[in-house]
Amino acid sequence: MIATNLSQTSAITTSRPMQSHWAEIVEIVQEAPAINTFWLRFLNEDLRKNYTFQPGQFNMLCVPGFGESAISISSAPQDRERIGHTVRLAGNVTNAIARLQVGDTLGMRGPFGTHWPVEECRGQDIYIAAGGIGLPPLRSFLYHVLRNRSDFGRVVVIYGARTPPDLQFVSEYEAWKAGGIEMIVTVDRGDENWTGSVGVVPIMFYQLRMDARHSVVLTCGPEIMIRFVIFEALARRIPASRIYVSMERNMKCGLGFCGHCQIGPFFVCKDGPVFTYETLQPYFNVEEL
Ligand SMILES: Cc1cc2nc3c(=O)[nH]c(=O)nc-3n(C[C@H](O)[C@H](O)[C@H](O)COP(=O)(O)OP(=O)(O)OC[C@H]3O[C@@H](n4cnc5c(N)ncnc54)[C@H](O)[C@@H]3O)c2cc1C
Repeated sequence: MIATNLSQTSAITTSRPMQSHWAEIVEIVQEAPAINTFWLRFLNEDLRKNYTFQPGQFNMLCVPGFGESAISISSAPQDRERIGHTVRLAGNVTNAIARLQVGDTLGMRGPFGTHWPVEECRGQDIYIAAGGIGLPPLRSFLYHVLRNRSDFGRVVVIYGARTPPDLQFVSEYEAWKAGGIEMIVTVDRGDENWTGSVGVVPIMFYQLRMDARHSVVLTCGPEIMIRFVIFEALARRIPASRIYVSMERNMKCGLGFCGHCQIGPFFVCKDGPVFTYETLQPYFNVEEL
């Protein structure tokens, strides 16, 4: 069974899904070395008013002459005016995006894909495990939680990066904590100023006492991290149907035509990126899939 239904999809996807729409860069925030958040605003006023998305969905960002990349939406779902995309330099397109300045335009089409299970999380304890560039799609979900905090039980974020300067959204952690979110921040290698945890994300589960009957795990990050997060969650008796994974596979069309992002019978772009582990389990340990 696929993780979630798209309860709200903006008109952009349903009418002409391959058509990109111009958006202006209104702000660029450096989050970490080689990672920037681009705040985008559609030039077309109707699109600005009508565009909606759910936490965990992504847009295809296009720099003419360079191509398109799938980038998760990292801002709050209720913030319609400006849409945040946190981009890490990887190759051709993301480097072209990084060269853009405030006032420049790029193409945007979306939103695409399934989203985090907002409804299924109601009344549950939520454990979010994110690594590196896996945090941006979960930040969108965190904003939803902060806005509706009484709908959820305990909310814990375990977030890991390679080194302290690689941590993203650091200036927001205090506000998240004040909003009732427990933060466990860890790095692979500390430096002389680091007083927090050192170790990979899955290991941090040993600090937690989890009530498996009322817990949901959401995870996004490098696939190796995801595998061990799943292992730790299953070891704590969290059912596979309540472990949600966002898979950021290489993709091109975003619509299930090209097959770049296929995992077994699923297309990450249209059946995902958010899946339950129950759905992916048969394909997860198959090499080269
Ligand atoms: C649903 C989804 C959401 C994503 N959200 C974000 C996000 O919020 N922020 C962000 O920075 N990135 C995100 N990505 C990854 C991003 O799409 C790729 O890094 C980007 O497309 C690379 O494009 P490029 O032209 O810059 O690199 P390319 O020149 O295409 O590739 C550079 C190198 O990276 C490899 N590569 C490209 N894409 C991927 C990938 N998805 N996984 C592993 N290796 C890859 C290529 O094989 C190549 O070796 C997301 C991907 C998906 C599928």
